[in-house]
Order: sequence, then C-alpha cells, then structure tokens
Amino acid sequence: MQVSSEEILEKLIAIPSITDTANEEIVACIEKIAAPFARVRRLPGAPGDRAALLLSVGPHERPGVVLSAHTDVVAVAGQPWSSDPFVLTEREGRLYGRGTSDMKGFVACVLAALPAFAAARLETPVHVALSYDEEIGCKGAGDLVALLARLPAPPALCIVGEPSGMKVMRAHKGKTGWRVTARGRTGHSALPHRAANAVTALARLAAHLADLAADLKAGARDEAFDPPYATLHIGSLHGGAALNVVPDEAVMEFELRTIPGTDGAAILRRIEHLAAEARAALKAEAEEADLVVEELSSYPALATAADTPEAAAVARLCGDNGPPGTIAFGTEAGLYDRAGLPTLVCGPGDIARAHKADEWVGRDELAQCDAMLARLVEMCRRPASEWITR
Ligand SMILES: [Zn+2]
Repeated sequence: MQVSSEEILEKLIAIPSITDTANEEIVACIEKIAAPFARVRRLPGAPGDRAALLLSVGPHERPGVVLSAHTDVVAVAGQPWSSDPFVLTEREGRLYGRGTSDMKGFVACVLAALPAFAAARLETPVHVALSYDEEIGCKGAGDLVALLARLPAPPALCIVGEPSGMKVMRAHKGKTGWRVTARGRTGHSALPHRAANAVTALARLAAHLADLAADLKAGARDEAFDPPYATLHIGSLHGGAALNVVPDEAVMEFELRTIPGTDGAAILRRIEHLAAEARAALKAEAEEADLVVEELSSYPALATAADTPEAAAVARLCGDNGPPGTIAFGTEAGLYDRAGLPTLVCGPGDIARAHKADEWVGRDELAQCDAMLARLVEMCRRPASEWITR
C-alpha cells in the first residue's frame, strides 16, 4: 500500500529529534521506512549517540542526484504553541508541528517517493542524504558530503530541501561564529592599577570589530543579497558582577557572514590580529591574564551561478519560471558546493515559519513537493547528462 507524505510526516513529527541530542529514534524510524526500497547506510557521528543516513536507489556507478536534508529540529521550550508541537495537527489545510517547514516536510515527501524510485528503471541514481545537528552550525553533514563527493561517479546535482516555498535558490552567505573569553585580574575598584579589567579588554575589542564591520560595509558588494555586503555582528558581551570590583572575566560572542567570493581569509587574518592585540594589551596589565578565541561553528557560502544547467533542471522539476533567487539563511548547501557538487536549494515551507511556535507546512506545499519528486522519478529514467541541460 502506498504511504503518503503526510502519513510519514506524522511519524517524523512524533519523534522530537531536537538538535544536539541522541538521534537513534529518528534514524531507526527512517531506516524502517526506507529499507524495502533503498540501500541504507548509517554513518556514525563523532558525538557517539547520533548518526547520519544515506539512502541510495539505482545504479551506483552512474552520476546521480542527491536529495539533502537534516533531521534535527530546534527546541520548543518557552514557545507558546497552540497544539502539541510533536503531534501533527491539521487546521484549515495547514499541518502544524515542530519541523514541518524546517525540514521534515521535505524528508517525508522524499521517503514517500522511495517506492516510485525503486519501481522505476533508473539510469540516474538517487541518494538521500540525511544529516543531524544542522541547527547548531551544520555539524552533522561532513561525512555525508565527503562520501558523496568521493563516489566513483560524483553526483551530477544536489537539491537541498530547506524551505524555499518550492522556489529555486542558488546562493546564500557563509557564516562563522566565535566566542572570546577574557581573563584578567580582579581587585578593589579603588585600585584598578593593580588589576586587569576583562570587561574593558573586550569592550575595546568590540569597538575594533565594529570598525571592521564598517569597512566590510564599504567593501565588496553583491546586490543579490540583503544586505549586499559581508556583516560582522556582536551578539552578546557579559562580564562583571559589581561596581566596586574589577571584573576578571568577560565573554563575548560574535559572527561573520560573508557574501560568496569575499576574501574570507583576509577578514579572518584581521580578526586574528585584533584578538592578538587585545590579548597583548591585557597581558601587559597582568602577566597571568589571557584572551582565548574559540570557533563555535562555521559553514561556507553557497554560490551557484544563475545560468547553470543544474539551476535550469531544478526549475523544470519544481515548475518555477522565475530566475533563481538567494536566501538570507545558511544551509548545508554551502558544504556540498565547496565539495564541488552543483547545488541548489528547493523545498516546501517557509523559513519565516521555522524555529518558532505554530510552525506549519501547507498540504498544498507537500503536494507541490510530491509532484516535483514524481517528475524527478521520470527524469531519472534517463542518464543525468540527457536532462541536466539548459
Ligand atoms: Zn533547516
């Protein structure tokens, strides 16, 4: 019996699979659904209690199509949901639940299409790549990307099904996040000359980073993005406990978002230089002082050109007649792009509904995605080189 994408979505939503937690339950559920139709490969992850999945159908020695998604979702704590976020709930054609838009809706459609892929005589294989921990900085896709890029016949196309309203998206910014911890020397506030103020050290560094942000604003531009330049943002700066005590610890977090084609290495060198200066200034006040920079997460930009045969092929699959767009949020597509795979983003739902209470995906949106995958089944009866053309 044919199982619908909505029925599969109901099962996936019932498993919380919150990011940065063990994911055995959702992995086992997907393996069970996929096993009759696909070769299933589990890729154990570095945290030990989670895994990525690769589901393949068709001749593995041919260049194939990758359908990429993450199975983790953001937490619901503190959000005012109108219904249980882990029970798929329909109201007026909208399906509510955590992950419906981002991005279990796409996963459900892909799993529902597996029987059709398996029944077709495929000349182009299909690889479903399912990662974990995407929501904390694309941490669980590395092994999948490496494995796919190393196949004897590297994939001809990768579609990342992040919510795009089923429009074709070709580019997004890259992002790196950091935490800086300054440790100085405490003391009485009347005797600051014998102490080393960690808050002052980070405040100075923050001011220098703001100057760098102004330089980036005046630098390279790509009008396809809003804003059309690289940005540097300070998200938090904490330190100190009382007015009469010199603070000996302060912590700051900041992020850099680059447009495709920016010289990221040059910006990184400037950030490293600013941090080294701040560290030296703090150590000059107290030799035991220190300032440590940790990278929290990083993913590269996606930069597929607008006029590629791959973008044209995905446009035909999803029925999007407009020029391919750009997205404001980051995805694993940047990792596939960097590995040399032609990559586009196209999936059901809307990122504006994601990560908050009452996230939903429309039944009509799932139907559009089902239709795209049905067209892909037909296309994959032919070699990729015959239909990935302008
Ligand atoms: Zn997502």
